Amino acid sequence: MKTSHIPTHECGVFGVYNHPNAAELTYYGLYALQHRGQESAGIVTARDDGKPFRAKRGMGLVGQVFQEGDLKELVGTRAIGHVRYSTTGSSTLKNAQPLMVESSRGQIAIAHNGNLVNASSLREELEADGSIFQTTTDSEVILHLISRRNPTVGGGSLSQALSRVHGAYSLVIMGENEVIAARDPFGFRPLVIGKLEDAYIFSSETCALDLVGAEFVREVQPGEVVVVDPNGLRSFKPHAEPSREALCIFEFVYFARPDSALSGRNVSHARTRMGRELAKLHPVEADIVVPVPDSGTYAALGYSEQAGIPLDQAFVRNHYIGRSFLQPTQLIRDFNVRVKLNLIRSAVQGKRVVVVDDSIVRGTTARARVTNLREAGAKEVHIRVSCPPHRFSCHYGIDFPNPKDLLANRMTKQEITKYLGADSLGYLDVDGMVRACGLPANKFCLACFTGDYPVPFTAEDDKEVLERRRLRSVSLVPEEETRQGFLL
Ligand code: SF4
Repeated sequence: MKTSHIPTHECGVFGVYNHPNAAELTYYGLYALQHRGQESAGIVTARDDGKPFRAKRGMGLVGQVFQEGDLKELVGTRAIGHVRYSTTGSSTLKNAQPLMVESSRGQIAIAHNGNLVNASSLREELEADGSIFQTTTDSEVILHLISRRNPTVGGGSLSQALSRVHGAYSLVIMGENEVIAARDPFGFRPLVIGKLEDAYIFSSETCALDLVGAEFVREVQPGEVVVVDPNGLRSFKPHAEPSREALCIFEFVYFARPDSALSGRNVSHARTRMGRELAKLHPVEADIVVPVPDSGTYAALGYSEQAGIPLDQAFVRNHYIGRSFLQPTQLIRDFNVRVKLNLIRSAVQGKRVVVVDDSIVRGTTARARVTNLREAGAKEVHIRVSCPPHRFSCHYGIDFPNPKDLLANRMTKQEITKYLGADSLGYLDVDGMVRACGLPANKFCLACFTGDYPVPFTAEDDKEVLERRRLRSVSLVPEEETRQGFLL
């Protein structure tokens, strides 16, 4: 589990077609994708004899949700799985994925990573036409559109359904005969195809293919739909190609696992190059470079190599932190910072320290760390951040706080330096970050840094929008209908 200060994660999806141990493979695949979501996990399996899909979903980590007996129950040669952090809809079991329905198209299960920007209006349209929703997730909107047969209400085919949804989606879908992988036209979230003997595997990240011993075949392209069924694997692109792509660059900076590759680029190498770029942009005289584990580790390595300053792992991470049920008072917050990362005092005492972190969002954790270092006797504390300042919120699946809570949105760099109590502060710039990832800027979404949003959104379409709708409940029996009745 990640212990960084990023307030949230997103989701991971995994799918298997044609393997006798589809559930076990999915279980291990989800294990490898656990960093993408820790609130709930689920697997749905399908047999080839048309029997009902089997499903197990639960709150918590993969290892907590599935016991050995569960996997034995999840029979089938096809499976899809999901790990979730709530980006849309509240974190409850009913919102855990994969979602599953019986429809006029048979059984359908879906697992979704990303965030739709028009879920609310689509849901209203579908509800007005009689759809009944079971969850408050945007993913259920896709499920409804897919299961419809009537083109006039958005259904008719998978292509027609996907043409109605806007925003970020990497999907694995299981029907009566097939497993389908689909990625939005901008390719916000990653999705890859693997092969294991005669089985096809779909996964959010390549690290899960490695774990199950599958060979990487290729990425699902932005806008591509890949279908694997008894006829084999085929693919089509139902959408008009947008003029640019928009892979979330924050996957490189923070979210993806360092052993994964995105667009053919290894994530750890990209992070190391970010550190090198950072050292060129913001050099400083210092004695040691200290990473904030885990996601700052590779950037610190790059900084240290470029600057010729030794690396010292002075922060020690506690790997065994569960969820804290204590109310987050200031005392508890300070404790939480320390329980996650402890400091080796003797490593920093009397030293000029460069601390390399992957990002500063609210700033509270970074501030506590500087205090920590000062208390331990560090002579100077220089903060270096391996991405540009976060000024804008994300509408495509990463749950950054409200812009007013983003430190860089409220303060100038000088004010932030003072607030953190640091001697100096240096952020990587957009050009350096993009260069480090090794692809042109028009391949990336950079919106939380630049405010240039590839897909327009409305201000109302935030993460809570589908929750809020419940408050606008409508009476089942309107007053006009009862006016003619008798008063008992
Ligand atoms: Fe990623 Fe930021 Fe774009 Fe969201 S806004 S998809 S976090 S780059």
